[in-house]
Amino acid sequence: MMQIPCPFCGARNESEFSFGGPVKPPRPEPEAVSDADWTAWLTQVPNPLGPVQEQWWHVRGCGTWLTIWRDTRSHDIVEGPGDGN
Ligand SMILES: [Zn+2]
Repeated sequence: MMQIPCPFCGARNESEFSFGGPVKPPRPEPEAVSDADWTAWLTQVPNPLGPVQEQWWHVRGCGTWLTIWRDTRSHDIVEGPGDGN
């Protein structure tokens, strides 16, 4: 089972959390992108092979939302690009 680091409670079992989905890129202005790009932003979710930024809700704990980077190949929680600066 995956251990997710809550900033308030420390590392907790995945069973205490609810998955909130991957973090999407910023919303583009609909007038500034093509119809295909707009439809893709609305309907497609990031699903890379490797690190992906995800939101999790500590629903059976303190109730906070947190963002982590998870490697989809190993389910390891990893440092994301720009973390550690
Ligand atoms: Zn917590």
